[in-house]
Amino acid sequence: MQEKVNVCHSCGKKLFCLGGFFNGVILENKQTYCFDCYDYISKDEKNPQN
Ligand SMILES: [Zn+2]
Repeated sequence: MQEKVNVCHSCGKKLFCLGGFFNGVILENKQTYCFDCYDYISKDEKNPQN
C-alpha cells in the first residue's frame, strides 16, 4: 500500500493516507480538506440561507 500525501485546500495542512486511513476528507470535486476545515465548510453548506 502506498502512502499518499495531500494538502488541505483551505489551510495547507499536510494530509496522509496511512494503512488505509486518510486523515482528511476528499470532496466530490477532488479537493482535500483536513477534518477541522471540513467541519467548518460542511456546517456552512448545511446552512446555505441562514
Ligand atoms: Zn485545513
